[in-house]
Amino acid sequence: MSMDLSISRHWRRKYSIYRLQAARCKACGRVHYPPRPACPYCGSRDLELVELPKHGKLVSFTKVYAVPEGARAQSPVYVGLVDLGATKVVAELTDITDQTQPKEGMEVEAVLRRTRVDGEAGLIYYALKFRPAIGVPDV
Ligand SMILES: [Zn+2]
Repeated sequence: MSMDLSISRHWRRKYSIYRLQAARCKACGRVHYPPRPACPYCGSRDLELVELPKHGKLVSFTKVYAVPEGARAQSPVYVGLVDLGATKVVAELTDITDQTQPKEGMEVEAVLRRTRVDGEAGLIYYALKFRPAIGVPDV
């Protein structure tokens, strides 16, 4: 694959995750994140893009200690199930401190965080994460 293709594909994906776009099935009404071309429940291909709210409630979470060597500066990593109303998403929790320990039912909000930098191609990769919604300005 050429680098141009890789960059444009990444940018499309970044746009999609930044907007928190999901696909709503027009046949059965279920919402899928990330968006899919076909509904895994009823098989319909009649889906429309919808934007999910950036705020939700933490349903449950887990602490992951086994992270790939070299991929992360720190362990453990928190992974949470977040209820956004129309659907639930699984994502890493970020900005966890002694004051903001995850709790079931806590309000969380979506943020884009840098995951890695590809020095050779000059690309910066982002991922959607959720942080405790305590009104901290985004950086
Ligand atoms: Zn469906």
